[in-house]
Amino acid sequence: MAVYGIDLGTTYSCVARIDDVGRPTVLRNMEGADTTPSVVYFESADSVVVGQSAKDATVLDPVHVVQLIKRDMGDVVPREFHGRAYTPEEISARILRKLVEDAKATGGKEARDVVISVPAYFGLAERDATRKAGEIAGLRVLDVVAEPVAAALDYGALDGDEERGDRAILVYDLGGGTFDTTVLTLRGRELTVLCTDGAKELGGSDFDDRIVVHLVERFRERFPDVDDPLSDPQSETQLRKDAEEAKKALSFRERYTVRVMHQGRVEAVELTREKVRELTGDLLDRTVDITRRTVELAAEHGVSHFDEVLLVGGATKMPAVAEALRTQFGFEPKLHNPDLAVARGAAIYALDRAAYIVSSGELPADQLPVVPETGLTHRPYQISTVASRGYGIQLVERDTDRRYVFHLVHANDPLPVSVTDEFYTTHAGQRSVRIRVMEQAGVEESEELAHNACVAEGHLAIPPGKPENWPIQCVYTLDSSGLLGVVAVEKESGEKLELTVQIGGMTPDAVATARDALSRQRFS
Ligand code: ADP
Ligand code: MG
Repeated sequence: MAVYGIDLGTTYSCVARIDDVGRPTVLRNMEGADTTPSVVYFESADSVVVGQSAKDATVLDPVHVVQLIKRDMGDVVPREFHGRAYTPEEISARILRKLVEDAKATGGKEARDVVISVPAYFGLAERDATRKAGEIAGLRVLDVVAEPVAAALDYGALDGDEERGDRAILVYDLGGGTFDTTVLTLRGRELTVLCTDGAKELGGSDFDDRIVVHLVERFRERFPDVDDPLSDPQSETQLRKDAEEAKKALSFRERYTVRVMHQGRVEAVELTREKVRELTGDLLDRTVDITRRTVELAAEHGVSHFDEVLLVGGATKMPAVAEALRTQFGFEPKLHNPDLAVARGAAIYALDRAAYIVSSGELPADQLPVVPETGLTHRPYQISTVASRGYGIQLVERDTDRRYVFHLVHANDPLPVSVTDEFYTTHAGQRSVRIRVMEQAGVEESEELAHNACVAEGHLAIPPGKPENWPIQCVYTLDSSGLLGVVAVEKESGEKLELTVQIGGMTPDAVATARDALSRQRFS
């Protein structure tokens, strides 16, 4: 059995393993492609289609097709198909299943031990859901790794001798549906995610949309009396597909012609790279603005020079991306298989983890993952990261009774972190306080209740006869893997409330049942 790295992407996924000479290799799917659309088509109760064919099925049977499921990871939002409800974990598990089944068929080795990549901004619930997706797919998830870390591993940005001193790396990741920028620093073998920022709804598919709109405009100019092609789902799906093809082709050529067909009419629209750049300029500008924000945040953390700028995500193949970074920041970005780098890096990291597990005796001998004979010595990276979200406590304003959230840990605080603060009872004779641990839900920290999710709660007893403003001490600790623990103490009695975050995800039993259900479905 081999150790695999999997990039479970919002729009495309990819799987890689370490070959016999110790290099990461991407395994093609059965259709012969390096990446597989993260699309699942529930064809019937016992048959599921994943990948390009599922994407194609959108034309004929859109209600049974799921796209962009990664955006729902960590939420409890099951969807029903053919009389059965599927959680986001279960839907993602079907993508993973397709990837490893195909990898086995094309690469020849059964997958059991895997590392799955996750965006750096993923919180606890999303990370947990990703692990569970792997378990449902019948895999043993050795670990999850942040996507920019995986990409940096693949780019070799972390290699080399430690005498070179501290290094800083900026990762610009423009995928199909999301954009992230992350700054990493490397000191010896100590890798730190310094800060991360991005937009969850900005990616290559927005570029496709602009092309679609342009194609439709040209078609309607030519045939003013014909219906809008966008009013017909079939024509629309075809247009989106053609627009994406055109966009991809224009990364390598200057012009490309799309034939727009609708109601028996055809208009050939010629697109140039320049035209697409003009149609999508503001989208690229948004990524530049966010990158600038990240660069400024890094400067506040003392990093003002980047040894490497890495391009990740399929959409960075558009030459306009590197060009914008060159002209706006003077960067010399590296572009090398940007849509495969995360899976390849996850495979490198998987090898690292497997070697660690082997050497630490964490598992019984008969369950050890097989580490290829690479002849390499193993020196694991110490990966430390920042909090991906803010964490706080729900408080009540005494005079107005307004409820709000006070954050003790903030996004981008270096991990591990431990913060102690004191809070006070609202009235005399109060016998208990309710401790509600809140996780920031949106991109920005906000004290509004609605912008936070309650991730754990409990009651702490207070001795009788205490005046108002009686103090309660709270300690928030976030360890280096991002696990949150909260301890509230009433000092006089020594009464203590210890909370660990209950992640809203699936229970081990539910995971086992889901794994069973998956194994009974046919895949293609
Ligand atoms: P994800 O966002 O799921 O991680 P990828 O990193 O593979 O996925 O990025 C997918 C996006 O990259 C899609 O919008 C796709 O159209 C785009 N893409 C892939 N190849 C090219 C290319 N040659 N030129 C421009 N865009 C591309
Ligand atoms: Mg990606």
